[in-house]
Amino acid sequence: MPFSKLDAPGLEHVIGDSRMPGTGHVEVTDAPDGCPLYQCPMGTASEVDFAVGCAAEQFSAWRWSTSSERSRMLGRAARFVADAADEIAGQVTLETGKTLAEAHSEVRSAARILETTAGFVPATAGTVTTDHSRKVWGLELTEPAGVVAVIGTWNMPVQVAALKISAALAAGCAVIYKPSPLAAATAGMLVDAFERAGLPVGTCAILHGGAETAQLLASHSGIAVVSVTGSELAGQELMRSAASGAKRCVLELGGKSANIVFADADLDRALQGVVTGFVRNQGAVCTAGSRILIQDEVYPQFLERLALAVEAVRVGDPFTAVDVGAVRSQEHCDALSDSLEKAVAFGAKVCAGGGQVTVPGRSGAYFRPALVAEVDQRDSLWQDELFGPVAVCAPFRDERDAISLANDSRFGLAAGIWARDLTRLERVWRELDVGTVYVNSYHRIDSVPLAASGRKMSGHGAEHGAAGIREFLASKSVHIYR
Ligand code: NAD
Repeated sequence: MPFSKLDAPGLEHVIGDSRMPGTGHVEVTDAPDGCPLYQCPMGTASEVDFAVGCAAEQFSAWRWSTSSERSRMLGRAARFVADAADEIAGQVTLETGKTLAEAHSEVRSAARILETTAGFVPATAGTVTTDHSRKVWGLELTEPAGVVAVIGTWNMPVQVAALKISAALAAGCAVIYKPSPLAAATAGMLVDAFERAGLPVGTCAILHGGAETAQLLASHSGIAVVSVTGSELAGQELMRSAASGAKRCVLELGGKSANIVFADADLDRALQGVVTGFVRNQGAVCTAGSRILIQDEVYPQFLERLALAVEAVRVGDPFTAVDVGAVRSQEHCDALSDSLEKAVAFGAKVCAGGGQVTVPGRSGAYFRPALVAEVDQRDSLWQDELFGPVAVCAPFRDERDAISLANDSRFGLAAGIWARDLTRLERVWRELDVGTVYVNSYHRIDSVPLAASGRKMSGHGAEHGAAGIREFLASKSVHIYR
């Protein structure tokens, strides 16, 4: 039977082998309609304590699992997630407002991440060094860090959870996962896949809650690593909470990424990539290419084509064949409209789209993607992450100018470059102060599993592959004299 709203009137914490209804529930509404979806409990200090205690017991067993056991478990979990794609994707669309096609793509990506992580487990083993002449040898051990807290976001609930939790389990850690209250029901589906795949029950607990629960977890003395995906504010607060225990923090935070189009680029391809770059998942993507920089020789023509392409983007019921679904809430939609109005009052020009639209048969909040030019670079529209389908565009003269505009941000998450000249591409990607660069593509990371990390206010610490697993390992050197 498909998972539906009626099946989840009240979410429960999943701790050890028990399910607990919790207290202090908040009502969460769905994105497509703004109707009640579930009641989410807010984890308290005593529940955090209990969860950490139970996870510590599980850790004492899982830490000794072999790398092949971990690897096999993750591989099997990947298949269970892929098998449940319809059920999970439907729930993701309800929780996020993204189109069902995008939700399916997220679930496929989550399954691929589990599979890829499984393959990287052996690569994180320790090393042995010998020096026969001196009868000395050494072991550089990589040991699981302990019980770790994973704090999730609402925009990619399955992909982000799969990424963080699989890396922690691959390292041999026990996990307490606190999903975003806005997208919390899929957490149970993911943990179910891990347990059916052979993860001992309770090794990945779910503790629901909001900012306060997250801070209680991050500051708890039984937590070894705090891995967060969220806004810059949440990242800073959680780093402060973790500071009392001098804990390692992995922070995957926001962005305001530049998508740079040079005159020599394949402009047809760039056009598609630039539009997708900021409208995908209704713009609620950390790496959204929301600052579009266009070389001045092609600026007027490209902007005109871009405006037409943005006008053609279909906004509507996310369960149908459209390009953009619902934004997460009416408040978020109002904030997008406000930002546009303020920028226009300061001289910005809306070249396409913008504004709330009514979608027949749906009562959620829907926003037409907006393309805005002539924005003052000190304006919030240029500097702040709006997390919606709004992009600013500006012309640039040459490489220097493009690099300086792209780096004019407190964030350093990602950037795109569209050009044919390889030497130019190399000069530019070297100068960009970001953790990920897409060349002649945007958002496409599926084919090559590379580590991802942010710079500046976008955070630090790696995700994906061996580097992602290492964030959950503690090293120990053993010097042995015979
Ligand atoms: P958010 O910061 O509101 O919430 C993220 C998580 O942190 C939630 O679990 C929430 O309960 C908790 N939280 C919120 N405020 C907190 C606080 N003051 N103290 C402690 N915990 C707090 O973010 P969101 O709206 O869920 O997600 C959007 C943000 O996440 C965007 O900034 C986006 O760019 C970022 N993001 C980053 C990546 C990445 O890989 N870099 C990926 C996805 C999303």
